[in-house]
Amino acid sequence: MRIGIPKEIKNNENRVALPPAGVCELIQAGHQVVVETNAGTGSAISDEEYQHVGATIGTQSDAWAADMVLKVKEPLPEEYPFFRENLILFTYLHLAANKPVTEALLKAKVNTVAYESVQLDDRSLPLLAPMSEIAGRMAAQIGAEFLESPQGGKGILLAGVPGVRKGNVVVIGGGVAGTNAARIAHGLGANVTILDVNVNRLKELDAQFNGQIQTLLSNTFNIHQQLRTADLVVGAVLLPGHKAPTLVTREMVRDMPDRSVIVDIAIDQGGIFETGTKTTTHDAPTYIEENVIHYAVANMPGAVAQTATHALSNATLPFAKKLASTSFEQAIKSDIALFRGVNTYQGRLVHEAVANDLDLPY
Ligand code: NAD
Repeated sequence: MRIGIPKEIKNNENRVALPPAGVCELIQAGHQVVVETNAGTGSAISDEEYQHVGATIGTQSDAWAADMVLKVKEPLPEEYPFFRENLILFTYLHLAANKPVTEALLKAKVNTVAYESVQLDDRSLPLLAPMSEIAGRMAAQIGAEFLESPQGGKGILLAGVPGVRKGNVVVIGGGVAGTNAARIAHGLGANVTILDVNVNRLKELDAQFNGQIQTLLSNTFNIHQQLRTADLVVGAVLLPGHKAPTLVTREMVRDMPDRSVIVDIAIDQGGIFETGTKTTTHDAPTYIEENVIHYAVANMPGAVAQTATHALSNATLPFAKKLASTSFEQAIKSDIALFRGVNTYQGRLVHEAVANDLDLPY
């Protein structure tokens, strides 16, 4: 099979779908790989390193002309003209929060498997997890930075100092991203509270952190109460395939202390804050609503590409190899996790949750 790896064009998206080690494995399996020139530059990988393992370096059109395109982020409108019937696209898509790209993929009859929809029998999301680990860890760092006065923040050090209170970090959603945000915030010395609707998950977190963070059931009352004294709030909720639920109302944000910080990791699925539905970019990452700083970058790991490219490809490569090894239909029939990841097929939307959220036929 011919496999294409275009350069990512989203703002400050420095990741690339596969590093040379992954490309080498595909070539050893008998495939041809075309990498767009400079696709790896943001991850400190040169064209020569790809050539060295047998890849061809080409233009953006060359990479998109392949039978299967491996990407990191959802295509942007400039990439829609490359869509065509039977093209296989394997990437993050987050379609429930993006009707235009869904419609463009359906119109062109592209067959897509979304990284974030590939799901194992235990309901875990193996291709989302590595980026959630990274985004979660970043959320605590970023929150700490934007709490500093020169960044517009209220001037709070999360760790506090002896005799002065620690910062209060509230994490909504105790899955992969939320747990990693809590871990770093706890490591920085903050006072951490994590809320989830899943009581079993809260038990696991209590054990994992040796009772050193506060766990709370996620409901409107508890969220509102926690936000009244929060310095940093991290949004990390996921209902797989669905648009994120709005759990934090404008009134709750208004009741937060002035110049506190919100980092909504779940913004890629539409976000959980009524005040924070718009996405931001690494170039202009924040805006202020109700005197609270909102950070809403949908591709946070793009800023740490030398870590993220390798973490992503460690997870995606086995599935990419499976997709390349046979026909699309056979590949998805032989692997239930991949099958669950199919979002569009021959012009039809085949992911129920996405179809329901977008009010499109399923
Ligand atoms: P996950 O499935 O591991 O965790 C989600 C958690 O949310 C679960 O524990 C679930 O019980 C909990 N939850 C569901 N409803 C809730 C509610 N009402 N209140 C509180 N908790 C609730 O998901 P994840 O891998 O941690 O991903 C979280 C989000 O982060 C996703 O939207 C993912 O796409 C996003 N993400 C964003 C970036 C970025 O760059 N912005 C990067 C990676 C992941």
